[in-house]
Amino acid sequence: MERYKRISDYKPLGPAVRVGADVDAWCTKCKRMLAHTVLAMVRGDPARVMCNSCKSQHNYRAEKAKPRAVGSRGPRAKAAKSTAKPHPARAWQQASQDKNLSNPRAYSPKETFLADQVIIHGKFGIGVVQEVRPGGKISVVFEDDTRLLVHARG
Ligand SMILES: [Zn+2]
Repeated sequence: MERYKRISDYKPLGPAVRVGADVDAWCTKCKRMLAHTVLAMVRGDPARVMCNSCKSQHNYRAEKAKPRAVGSRGPRAKAAKSTAKPHPARAWQQASQDKNLSNPRAYSPKETFLADQVIIHGKFGIGVVQEVRPGGKISVVFEDDTRLLVHARG
């Protein structure tokens, strides 16, 4: 009867990890991946291990210098926020790189503008319309900053 397989025929998805078993882990002393003996488990994962080579005990690390989880704590979240608005010079470079700046359309709040149009503003100079916003506003990238201007008020 092929139907009844012995339990030992069923292989678990991963290697069986338990206290006393060997796992490959990053040794903080040897500075390399080595076989370690699991000393403690937390929620199904090895928490503390002992290096089989140097016998040092340390927290389990699956690999070298794991990058921190995304959006975990303060400083990183803050850094991500500051990158939301690119540096004006960079924003201008990006917005203008594939545009023909030689024939800008004169800006007036009465005119209606479209995204990617090159405009010239009496005070701010040449700009590229980045986005048309609801409520009669356009977001325009100028060389020194990105500004929200009104349009289509004619
Ligand atoms: Zn070691």
